[in-house]
Amino acid sequence: MNEQMAAKVNLLGLHHQAMIAFFATLGEKPYRAIQVLKWIHAIGTQDFHQMTDLSKALRQKLTERAEIKLPEIAYENRAFDGTHKWLLRLSDGNCIETVFIPEKTRGTLCVSSQVGCILNCDFCSTGKQGFSRNLTTTEIIAQLWLAIRKLSKNNGVHDHAVTNVVMMGMGEPLLNLDHVVPALHLMLDDHAYGLSKRRVTVSTAGVVPALYQLRAVSDVALAISLHAPNDELRDQLVPLNKKYPLKELITACREYFKHDERRSITMEYVMLDGINDKQEHAKQLIKLLNGIRVKMNLIPFNPFPHTAYKRSNNKAIFLFRDTLLKAGLHTTIRRTRGEDINAACGQLVGEVKDRTHRQARYRLSVSMLQTTKKNIGENTITS
Ligand code: SAH
Repeated sequence: MNEQMAAKVNLLGLHHQAMIAFFATLGEKPYRAIQVLKWIHAIGTQDFHQMTDLSKALRQKLTERAEIKLPEIAYENRAFDGTHKWLLRLSDGNCIETVFIPEKTRGTLCVSSQVGCILNCDFCSTGKQGFSRNLTTTEIIAQLWLAIRKLSKNNGVHDHAVTNVVMMGMGEPLLNLDHVVPALHLMLDDHAYGLSKRRVTVSTAGVVPALYQLRAVSDVALAISLHAPNDELRDQLVPLNKKYPLKELITACREYFKHDERRSITMEYVMLDGINDKQEHAKQLIKLLNGIRVKMNLIPFNPFPHTAYKRSNNKAIFLFRDTLLKAGLHTTIRRTRGEDINAACGQLVGEVKDRTHRQARYRLSVSMLQTTKKNIGENTITS
């Protein structure tokens, strides 16, 4: 293949070191990387000809050899409470979701890391969609790039700035470290997005070996999807627990901020009526988390079609919180956002070309259940 025919390199997903390597292939100095990172991420340019601190010859060369290409916005929606959701169509036809949650003092972008999710947590709608593939670094960072531009265009930068990023969209980020880590580098890089490490959070169901790997290369904030205080219940809710049980997970958590006493880990705990919301569960949690710096975040369950789970009632949630607080555990209740546009936690589904066939199996089991219910109903009437 001659040079003219070679595929263009999409610069959007190149972090600092990768960008330096790219410019080296053009015979250019490392400082070019910083210039171009600023143009792409901090300023938001997609057109090389606008990069006025590059020579005309280099701009021309870049036009021939590189591109800054984003996924297409297939659909967008805004909830009553100001939450924005975008459905992004990737080049292979898969779609992923990204959500922006504005609050008084901050704006949080919830970013996806995979198309679908392999983990299949029992209470999560994304899991029921099955899994297609990992997102590339470009596809991960594109969510931030697009959100910033769309928000400033629609609403004015100051009201709706992205100040925080949480990897809590579709997928399990720790099963896609190769692409997630370079994206995290870009988020923290002062030449790109310049977010503080405390304002970028990776959320995981507990892929223990990857937790150690992540910590070796980054010290971004960490959230663990805990959801149960003992292995028996957690095996049922988060099947990954069978592979990495609580003891191993808790040890990894103790290690994560061992050298930084001021930082703590967020523990996410979805409140499921009658399942994990009893006082005995709160007491087990207190014992489990003894001596670790954590912030408990109780998430009222967000229902999705055909799920058997129900949201705990407010009284149970408050009682649970109070028990944890009394034991000295810092505990908050997550306010549900964007529910009217299915943008709340666990409701992100995108459009997944499911390679696991889980989506089809789930639909089949739902329709079988409906038929059974209907038959039982009819029998009751006729008998
Ligand atoms: N795979 C990662 C990233 C997903 S984050 C992880 O497990 O952490 C999404 C968060 O929302 C997780 O804590 C997840 O357990 C929680 N969640 C999933 N489904 C939910 C639902 N239906 N209602 C409330 N929270 C849910």
